[in-house]
Amino acid sequence: MKLVFATNNLNKLQEVQKLIPSNIQLLSLKDIDCLEDIPETQDTIEGNAIQKANYIKENYGYDCFADDTGLEVEALDGAPGVYSARYAGPQKDANDNMDKLLEALENHSNRKAQFKTVIALSLNGKQHTFTGICKGNITQEKAGSAGFGYDPIFKPEGYELTFAEISMEEKNRIGHRGKAVAQLVEYLNQL
Ligand code: IMP
Repeated sequence: MKLVFATNNLNKLQEVQKLIPSNIQLLSLKDIDCLEDIPETQDTIEGNAIQKANYIKENYGYDCFADDTGLEVEALDGAPGVYSARYAGPQKDANDNMDKLLEALENHSNRKAQFKTVIALSLNGKQHTFTGICKGNITQEKAGSAGFGYDPIFKPEGYELTFAEISMEEKNRIGHRGKAVAQLVEYLNQL
């Protein structure tokens, strides 16, 4: 069976391929000649994941799964959430995004936040979603150089280090994306 993972991130693709049954062949967007920007116009993380998976099914005919992630900050009523990538503007710059978030939280003692990943799967005409959450706190300043996005200012619960200061293996084990992928893999393994 061929299944598209709506990504061009080969690391993500290989990581998931290793975890699922070998009779499922994962294809990237490049593999199916999808070079266009897939619309992500919904106002929720779930909505965008579902929109992306459905877009591939409808336009390319393949069963597909897609992921979408956001950082939800309690004191900001869940912002930046679905707008995490472009929080500080269309340039989608991680440093600008972190600076804007630290500034927005300057006078807040509540630093609670969570990363949320939703994976939407469109398979055999049915839809499924898998959600992974990682709770933590926004730090006062950036620390660490590993990872990407908001990692230098996010300390997962129970840790004294930011996501940018722990190994990728550790982040995958406790992180939002890893948890959502684990549920997807469990589902595909019992088909
Ligand atoms: P995407 O849906 O995976 O493209 O994620 C959207 C945005 O959320 C990214 O551009 C990052 O700003 C942020 N983000 C997603 N996952 C992570 C993560 O694991 N660490 C830090 N930031 C992340």
